[in-house]
Amino acid sequence: MSAKSSAGGASNVWVYNFGAAGTDGDSSMRNLLGGKGANLAEMSGIGLPVPPGFTITTEVCTHFYDNGRQYPDELQDQVRAAIARIEKETGAGFADPDNPLLVSVRSGARASMPGMMDTVLNLGLNDQTAAGLAARADDTRFAYDSYRRFIQMYGDVVMGVDHGLFEDALENMKLKNGVFDDTGLTGDDLKVLVDEYKDIVRAEADEAFPQDPWAQLWGAVGAVFASWMNARAITYRRLNNIPASWGTAVNVQAMVFGNMGDDCATGVAFTRNPSTGENSFYGEFLINAQGEDVVAGIRTPLPLTKAARQDGDGESMEEAMPEVFAQLDAVRLQLEKHYTDMQDLEFTVQQGKLYMLQTRSGKRTAEAALKMAVDMAEEGLITRDQALLRVDPNALDQLLHPTLDPNAEKVVLTRGLPASPGAACGQIVLSADKAEEMAAGGHQVILVRLETSPEDIHGMHAAAGILTARGGMTSHAAVVARGMGRACVSGAGDLRFDEVSGKVFIQDSELAEGDIITIDGSSGEVYLGSVATVQPRMSGAFGIIMEWADGRRRMAVRTNAETPADARVAVGFGAEGIGLCRTEHMFFDQDRIVAMRQMIMAADTEGREAALAKLLPMQRQDFVELFEIMAGLPVTIRLLDPPLHEFLPHSAEELADVASAAGVSTETARQRALKLAESNPMLGHRGCRLAITYPEICRMQARAIFEAACAVAKTAEKAPVPEVMVPLAATAKEVAICKAVIDQEAAAVMQETGQTVEYLVGTMVELPRAAIRANDLASEAEFFSFGTNDLTQTALGISRDDAGAFLHDYTDAEIYATDPFVSIDRDGVGALVRMGVELGREQRPDIKLGICGEHGGDAASITFFEEVGLDYVSCSPFRVPAARLASAQAAIRAGH
Ligand code: PEP
Ligand code: MG
Repeated sequence: MSAKSSAGGASNVWVYNFGAAGTDGDSSMRNLLGGKGANLAEMSGIGLPVPPGFTITTEVCTHFYDNGRQYPDELQDQVRAAIARIEKETGAGFADPDNPLLVSVRSGARASMPGMMDTVLNLGLNDQTAAGLAARADDTRFAYDSYRRFIQMYGDVVMGVDHGLFEDALENMKLKNGVFDDTGLTGDDLKVLVDEYKDIVRAEADEAFPQDPWAQLWGAVGAVFASWMNARAITYRRLNNIPASWGTAVNVQAMVFGNMGDDCATGVAFTRNPSTGENSFYGEFLINAQGEDVVAGIRTPLPLTKAARQDGDGESMEEAMPEVFAQLDAVRLQLEKHYTDMQDLEFTVQQGKLYMLQTRSGKRTAEAALKMAVDMAEEGLITRDQALLRVDPNALDQLLHPTLDPNAEKVVLTRGLPASPGAACGQIVLSADKAEEMAAGGHQVILVRLETSPEDIHGMHAAAGILTARGGMTSHAAVVARGMGRACVSGAGDLRFDEVSGKVFIQDSELAEGDIITIDGSSGEVYLGSVATVQPRMSGAFGIIMEWADGRRRMAVRTNAETPADARVAVGFGAEGIGLCRTEHMFFDQDRIVAMRQMIMAADTEGREAALAKLLPMQRQDFVELFEIMAGLPVTIRLLDPPLHEFLPHSAEELADVASAAGVSTETARQRALKLAESNPMLGHRGCRLAITYPEICRMQARAIFEAACAVAKTAEKAPVPEVMVPLAATAKEVAICKAVIDQEAAAVMQETGQTVEYLVGTMVELPRAAIRANDLASEAEFFSFGTNDLTQTALGISRDDAGAFLHDYTDAEIYATDPFVSIDRDGVGALVRMGVELGREQRPDIKLGICGEHGGDAASITFFEEVGLDYVSCSPFRVPAARLASAQAAIRAGH
């Protein structure tokens, strides 16, 4: 229990106040107060204009779920006292018809979960206080518009009434009065609408809309806590690795109104441009509106600054409200300096007075993250190490995604806002469920929606890109797509839908679900059909961050590659060698697979050797190219690993072809295939077991490696450094047997060619026994490469190929915090790696240690590999930049 005791020591504190009259919390308390609550307290503490309020802690949420949805005993009194403080500061009274205090009730978890949980605004309105508000503000329209919005939100969030019913009633009212916009409705119209809304609630929820503000408050607080466990929040947490145990806080805050007239406004802003990183004030606002209007994209917001205004736009905030804008701009600078990071702000202007409603570290594109990190380090706001820690290595992926080929033929269909960068092409789907279904079937899809909402999150995740008709740069679609790294074009106003026929109309074109379009999330353009793309290049801030990362990291970063194309890409991304060349991938080419199958079908050693002799020159040429591309950097080549039956065809027809090519009868081929079949191939006749049974395979591969190395060494500036790797060894003896063959072949080739090359022989450590007896293995092996894919499979006893069916149940139940095939299971598999490292070094102090499982490209796992002191990580080419950065971050965190 970490709830602090109150001054009297008698009870726990569940409620923290903020406001001009005193603030209990600060930004260091985000675990207890949630991100929003902690930052409201911080802003209030540094003297910014924050409407007063209080935060009910995340511990209340935990208590709520641990105790059958009951609150702690002291909570009621603490909330009453906190409301009394707000009343005192504002001079308004909760439930007071003459001067009613209205509050907002919002969720606020430790990690930001945008739009995932529920919010209720204008709470405290009832028939009396609405009338009182109308009289006091001298504005019936404003009071009843607030009341009807409150009934709608409360009805939806707390009482479970379908919000579409309220929307329909609003639309009907507009139709009846011949107005297009809700601002066209009068106060009297809205009074009638309020009655209709109350009727809807009574009919749908079987109870009257609550008139008692205290009942309203507890209803809303309960709904926010309940929303922590709603389906979309659970999905969001799963996708973002947020534990359910964190809970959410609830923030209750005095309402301020941006919709009381033309001296009122509301908006959202970023202290720098979250798309490009440019150091300019960036945001949108609406005059005479409530915050939800900006986010929902119902009216198109206007830019904050004059510089951002485009032809045809209305006045920017800088022009329309110069004084308040100047104040906001000063707050922007103060907050950035205070937090030393780009902030995402929400503000409201009520009758010319500025109020700050939220600040948090702003979500940004990878490109912006890099630019801001570099700029802020150069501005002296942060150190270089901090700059390196600011960039999420996984987000670097975003920058490595393709962009549209500038020379490709394009048919522009329409244009929207460039909401999230990258180009994506795919089939149109109109619903999130369909997107998920099609993506699961291997299709690339673009989710096309009027606008998105948190219910669509699974479909957005499944889609390659998102296109919406409505919503600005801060709309749900834009913010969520940026966070996920999906390409997104939002607010393409020319887009229309016919829900019944499933048709999409863009300008003059008629499209249907299944048709292909391409979107460019960097320009906002939408194209017909599939448009060619080009691979990105590293430049500008990317190059600087990479350079700083390289100066800071201890571990080398290599790549897993076997094709010359992949190897070249990896070198372009900064790979410092090949950590894993899976030679089996080289045998699937049309001309090679025939020789490979002949070898498998051969009845005896001579037959196998004859087939291997055909493979030798091809294999040698593969290695020549790799050695040339890697130009003297180490190249780890692994002997054949998979069981031989993986190379055989599946159908009887194809097997007959193989038989005739190999010069055996179909029946012999069938018998041979049957004999090779295994019930558990992952633990079967694979890895070094093949080399033990068929040393001629190992010999051919070793010869190809050394012939290639000697040939390249003759002409190259830097001689190749082959590292020959034995897969799936459990014992030192296996390594010794393979090593003897490799050494023999190396000596023979060097003698034949008169050329010497340096080389190492090492082993994968990918079986628990290999880790446990690593000292034995190290007596033979000159290097270890941890094969954490197989090591995870064999240590956990979970099949790599079958885990997908049930592993999510394990992560949902938090048995494993994350998928152990993605991020290393530190306590189990990690312990084996640590043991392997320690025992290996004990036996052979200069042993080279690396990792080439998929974990080599995962930032969290890289942190662990730094801790245990590996020499290098190796990962797929596109993950090399992320691994360089993650290695630097790991070194910084470890204090190296
Ligand atoms: C491993 O097991 O981690 C590994 C790199 O080998 P493969 O994925 O080829 O089995
Ligand atoms: Mg393996």
